[in-house]
Amino acid sequence: MFVGIDVGGTNLKAGLVDEQGHLLASRKSPLGVFQGPEKFVNTLAELTMQVARDGGADPEKLEYVGMGIPGAVADGTIVYTCNIPMENVPIGQLFAHYLNVPVLLENDANCAAVGEYFCGAGRGTRDFAVITLGTGIGGGFILNGKLYAGGGMVGEVGHMVICQGGVLCNCGRRGCWETYASATGLIRMTREAMEKSPDSLLWSGSHGGETVSGRTAFLAAEQGDAAAQGVCEEYVQDLATGVINLINILQPEVLAIGGGISNESDAALLYPLRELVERECFARHGGRLTRIVKTELGNDAGIIGAALLRQAI
Ligand SMILES: [Zn+2]
Repeated sequence: MFVGIDVGGTNLKAGLVDEQGHLLASRKSPLGVFQGPEKFVNTLAELTMQVARDGGADPEKLEYVGMGIPGAVADGTIVYTCNIPMENVPIGQLFAHYLNVPVLLENDANCAAVGEYFCGAGRGTRDFAVITLGTGIGGGFILNGKLYAGGGMVGEVGHMVICQGGVLCNCGRRGCWETYASATGLIRMTREAMEKSPDSLLWSGSHGGETVSGRTAFLAAEQGDAAAQGVCEEYVQDLATGVINLINILQPEVLAIGGGISNESDAALLYPLRELVERECFARHGGRLTRIVKTELGNDAGIIGAALLRQAI
């Protein structure tokens, strides 16, 4: 038995998982105000013991605890996280003060890719990629059956430039993929279209511009609004540019798309995306097309992947 923990921006989620990836018990706990690494690790250990007991397992007899961390990790140490103020924190070492079970750390997007690989959209493949469309764009790759982890900093697919001199990104470059194809990018494009089209349904669909979200353009496009359809078309094209770049480099059998925007209908998102990929990707010449699908495990992917980490490294 394994415990997987997903360290999110606001919540800690933990699950007891068996060898096949079945989630036997799960728990969620608010991250709360950060009170230093010791307290943080104490919370992780408490959560581990609780969820193990929930599922009828002895916490002392867990094979290991896998953790998905939003940031860079190396050898049981959090090198850097974006949303929790931690640098060079030896999680594995600190954890041993509370529970004598080995700890495996990995980037959270990589954990989600591992979860989908074993139990979701990547089942049965050898080469598999996941991209997550959220505030930014995350990526994780399984190559030849193993997680491609690099030095803990791989998968920053959102920061490949798709438009030289384009929109300024948080990372300092211009024209990064995620400034166009993330939910943040979609919201920016939606607002720009609204300014140009005062009569668009985008206005009424967002309470006069107060509640513009990643859904606003898709909903108005469904009702036949021309400005919204323009936004969606541009969005899918920008999404496709990055997807095709990745496919040309990695040639996975399956590329799965997750995150909030992936919940839009297939007709609005997946079908036009597939059409662009089939038209432009290099492998069309050889007839070996990557299958583009949606992720299957939703929010559980991170927990399950963290719990199954050892099988993928
Ligand atoms: Zn960037």
